[in-house]
Amino acid sequence: MNKNITVLRGDGIGPEIVAEALKVLDRVCEKYGHTFTYTDVDIGGCSIDKYGVPITDEGMAKCKAADSVLLGAVGGPKWDSCPPAIRPEKALLAVRKELGLFANLRPTKLFPQLADSSPLKQEIVGNGIDLLIVRELTGGVYFGPKKTEEVNGELVATDIMPYSEHEIERIGRVAFETARKRGKRLASVDKANVLDTSRLWRKTMHRLAEEYPDVELSDILVDNTAMQLIKNPTQFDVLVTENMFGDILSDEASMLTGSIGMMPSASLSEGTLGMYEPIHGSAPDIAGLNIANPLGTILSGAMMLRYSFDMAEEADTIEAAVNAVLDAGYRTGDIMQEGCTKVSCSDMGDLVAERI
Ligand code: NAD
Repeated sequence: MNKNITVLRGDGIGPEIVAEALKVLDRVCEKYGHTFTYTDVDIGGCSIDKYGVPITDEGMAKCKAADSVLLGAVGGPKWDSCPPAIRPEKALLAVRKELGLFANLRPTKLFPQLADSSPLKQEIVGNGIDLLIVRELTGGVYFGPKKTEEVNGELVATDIMPYSEHEIERIGRVAFETARKRGKRLASVDKANVLDTSRLWRKTMHRLAEEYPDVELSDILVDNTAMQLIKNPTQFDVLVTENMFGDILSDEASMLTGSIGMMPSASLSEGTLGMYEPIHGSAPDIAGLNIANPLGTILSGAMMLRYSFDMAEEADTIEAAVNAVLDAGYRTGDIMQEGCTKVSCSDMGDLVAERI
């Protein structure tokens, strides 16, 4: 299969970790007879330095024209004082909007080999955590009408949280389809005891459930979800929720693994185009030292194969290779444990690629 991938290396450790993900994808191509063509586009601070904007129109067009987009990370202290309109993160919001990326998939996986990195007790973590949060990314209170006005001599601020049935239905479908490919259990997270948007959310999820009889749907209130993620995270398979709840819960969930460098993510559009990136930032404190953990980016590459290219076997192969490298005791500094072998960012990429 031939695929065009637009590569956004970005700032800080972005170029280092993306290079390792491409190394692994190239090895997948060799093994399975695919051809991936990479087109580089500057994004974030490096684009501001060259062009005065965090992404150019031409760069954006290359993202839209691709089969998929792979991102490292953007930002750093050098650009912290840029005016809000041209800050590095602006480019990420623009790409999400232009590509219509409405579904954010965030797996939280605690590899059993790294159980000691979790802030949770061993008896709670059990044989490892493996859950996935599907977050609606382009609706709700972050995008609804907002205003601050003076009422009776004081300031009053209002943010409205609108959700239409079709917005809920399309994220619901992504969640049901995703649950179908995993453990077939879907928890729909809402606040239906208080919010109208949540009541519509729940009603829509139940209507969709009739089309997915093989997926077991349950409802859970967002406050209880926040508690259960700490108390008993292994009960979950897939969770689906609206934008703000998902923002908060996915950050909470990512911390259960204690290793930010391991976590991949995917943002999907209505077609097969998606953007794939590790959840961490550009880590300016370790940039250029060849010590960053590239596994989150490598696993984002695996998600790209699974969700945009329908290459489940190839994705499984990458995930198995990561597992094998951890089993063999190789660790980058951030996940280093006693008795293991410390390796650099590029060594880690080589070790995974060798096992493809
Ligand atoms: P960060 O995620 O970059 O770093 C937090 C800590 O985790 C740092 O100590 C860093 O060294 C470590 N870390 C992160 N990724 C690692 C990896 N792969 N391997 C080993 N250690 C890793 O968060 P921050 O320091 O708050 O932000 C730094 C910059 O990144 C800021 O400019 C911020 O705006 C930007 N940022 C970008 C994105 C993105 O591009 N999607 C996301 C978050 C933050």
